[in-house]
Amino acid sequence: MRSQNFLSNKPLLYLVATPIGNLQDLSPRAKEIIEQADLIACEDTRVSGLLISNLGFKKPLISLREHNEVSEANYVVEQILSGKKVVYMSDAGYPAISDPGSKLVQIALEHCINVSVIPGPNAGLSALVASGLNTDHFYFHGFLSPKESQRNEELRKLATREETLIFYEAPHRIMKTLESLYEILGNRRACIARELTKKHEEYIRMNLEEMIALDPESLKGEMVIVVEGCLKEVSDSIDDKEIINLVNNFESMGISTKDAIKKVSELTKVSKNYIYKIYHN
Ligand code: SAM
Repeated sequence: MRSQNFLSNKPLLYLVATPIGNLQDLSPRAKEIIEQADLIACEDTRVSGLLISNLGFKKPLISLREHNEVSEANYVVEQILSGKKVVYMSDAGYPAISDPGSKLVQIALEHCINVSVIPGPNAGLSALVASGLNTDHFYFHGFLSPKESQRNEELRKLATREETLIFYEAPHRIMKTLESLYEILGNRRACIARELTKKHEEYIRMNLEEMIALDPESLKGEMVIVVEGCLKEVSDSIDDKEIINLVNNFESMGISTKDAIKKVSELTKVSKNYIYKIYHN
């Protein structure tokens, strides 16, 4: 279905990207749309209320977050269909990127409401572009699981990807995550982008082995971890033991040996026959 946002009279939901630290990063267009809005739906009314009052506006706010996203999305839809101009924003950066918002978009589209984005800051892309790592192709993972076994499982699936990898992390989990990254992906080049756009903004460019030796006290605040992808030579010469481990991992997830071999073959580009042979040896 094709539908123009600004040249039709169709109802429209505005997704507004908000600052990730520095309030000056809110775009003039975002400010204008907020000023015109009849209702601001947001992740946290305290956080967005502060941003809006700093702009000098007073607006009705409702909270739409993970636990009530569907019910509140239906309310937002009603409001838009009754002719109100509604903005959705999360606490920081883009809505729907490791933040609520994607269900709201789906529900709005199901009700034939158009969706428009007012672009702005995003922590992952900001970290990537200044990391010094390859930006041609990248994979955004967001948060890894806080549970070690699950986190390692997620990382094993990424181990042979050649794209630069982007992770979000909370300061109290950073060391454990760095240890998992080093253990599963090996000693790769990486970059921690810390406190972006704020006074203490810092880029820590070193390899993962050096990172796990850092003083945890020096890793405070908000952080993105950007990790070099699997080098082509490595992904090309992935060894038999690693291949067998990958098959075992898929099997432990309840996948049959046949399907596990098929998946590992797709992942590693090693032939199914060869995997079958080494696996049954
Ligand atoms: N929606 C946001 C976006 O578009 O980037 C991401 C929100 S997510 C809940 C929060 C995570 O983003 C943090 O744990 C951190 O990994 C990253 N982050 C947010 N602000 C940051 C900043 N100023 N500097 C570095 N990382 C940041």
